[in-house]
Amino acid sequence: MSPEITTLSYYAIPILLVYAFYLKNIQQRESNNRAVFEEAIETGMTSPPSLHPVINQDVCIGCEACVHACPEFPAHTVLGLIDGKANLVGPTDCIGHGACKTACPVDAISLVFGTAERGVDIPNVSPEFETNVPGIFIAGELGGMGLIRNAVMQGQQALSYLAAQKRVLADGLDVAIIGAGPAGLAATLAAKEFGMKYVTIEQDSLGGTVANFPRGKLVMTAPVTLPLYGQMQFKETHKETLIDFWHGVEEQTGIDVNYREKLESVEREGDAFVLHTTRTTYRAASLLLALGRRGSPRTLDVPGEDLPKVAYSMIDPSHYADQHVCVVGGGDSALEAAIAIAKEPNTTVTLCYRSSAFSRAKRKNRDKTEALARTGQITVLMNSVVLNIGESTVDIHLRDEEQTKTMSNDAIIVCVGGILPTGFLKELGIKVDTKYGSH
Ligand SMILES: Cc1cc2nc3c(=O)[nH]c(=O)nc-3n(C[C@H](O)[C@H](O)[C@H](O)COP(=O)(O)OP(=O)(O)OC[C@H]3O[C@@H](n4cnc5c(N)ncnc54)[C@H](O)[C@@H]3O)c2cc1C
Ligand code: SF4
Repeated sequence: MSPEITTLSYYAIPILLVYAFYLKNIQQRESNNRAVFEEAIETGMTSPPSLHPVINQDVCIGCEACVHACPEFPAHTVLGLIDGKANLVGPTDCIGHGACKTACPVDAISLVFGTAERGVDIPNVSPEFETNVPGIFIAGELGGMGLIRNAVMQGQQALSYLAAQKRVLADGLDVAIIGAGPAGLAATLAAKEFGMKYVTIEQDSLGGTVANFPRGKLVMTAPVTLPLYGQMQFKETHKETLIDFWHGVEEQTGIDVNYREKLESVEREGDAFVLHTTRTTYRAASLLLALGRRGSPRTLDVPGEDLPKVAYSMIDPSHYADQHVCVVGGGDSALEAAIAIAKEPNTTVTLCYRSSAFSRAKRKNRDKTEALARTGQITVLMNSVVLNIGESTVDIHLRDEEQTKTMSNDAIIVCVGGILPTGFLKELGIKVDTKYGSH
């Protein structure tokens, strides 16, 4: 062999090997992306909840900058290349960071609300966060713009504009703040700083959507100033650290939040908004809605549902060790809760679902549930409904057998979806635009 050919092979073979490895790697990633995308279509999980990217395939050069810029990556595959072009392969995992648009070098990405098939309702608010109903303000994700830092900033800005209007009632509160997620928390701090007469009502616990993130979830945010407190410095932290921090802020500043109290309806009496909650009635001159977009959990409406053992989401499976647990529902959140709790020591898990198939859940969750049912770690009761909840029991009606079974029970997790706030906004007279893929 001539020295030239030897030298050529010396360089060419490693280069070809590296190239072959590179191609294989791309093929593998594309095949994973395709699988994620197909699963989203199969389970009907194709509607992003909020602001999300639309990629112009004619302009995309397939550089993957958007894929890596997404703060949810690699925990979730939100964006991925298919046939060399970026696609929104995990639509429901997109939470509207918008980092993809900034990262794209050729401006192939626009950020929109809703899709052609499924509109997203966005209330009409002024730059001062006031709705078309004078005195009702909206802050945070309910207004369309998600993310913790945005919610904090909007909560305090909305409260500042509202305070500047100086609406007061002789016989009531200056403002009622609904929701204690990041927007409601910041608004409450601002209300106290301005010396206003306020009430803050939260149907669940401090932190809103963040409090419902799974245990240990990594949270990406950016530093922001909290009224009365100062800097919230986090960029990347864990859900528990952020919630502990907010509890510390609450304690240090002495703000009051009424937890486990839900706003049910509002009526107008002269200049006053009269708020009916699950506990009492308030009169307020202004209203700040910081409700987020998750809405209120759908309930079972059965006797005993008000017992403390009933929850509407599963946050930490270890809380359920050594317990008899009943999970109600057939979507991904119900199956994921049942699967996670079944792994805890000495638990019994019953999954109670009113239909005959888990057609709304991802294949991987269905497969895991079936596997755990085969080994007896989960008892699956299809075509069944909860009739009554007792202190240490639950009555479940089995439609196929036409009989009711009373089971030992320590905890019930109800995962049967939520009621979105749009209807409530419309009842208040607030104008709502439905966006079908526009900004
Ligand atoms: C899976 C997931 C991951 C995310 N990860 C990130 C992340 O890493 N970084 C980031 O910046 N953002 C993230 N987000 C988005 C972020 O959580 C939200 O944008 C933010 O929490 C919105 O704050 P908010 O105060 O507007 O609403 P929420 O946090 O939703 O709070 C609204 C509150 O209002 C209460 N409420 C509603 N109705 C009533 C009623 N009738 N009466 C009384 N109370 C009521 C609710 O119980 C809730 O506590 C994520 C979201 C999800 C779903
Ligand atoms: S960053 Fe832009 S060009 Fe690159 S893959 Fe994403 S959409 Fe395509």
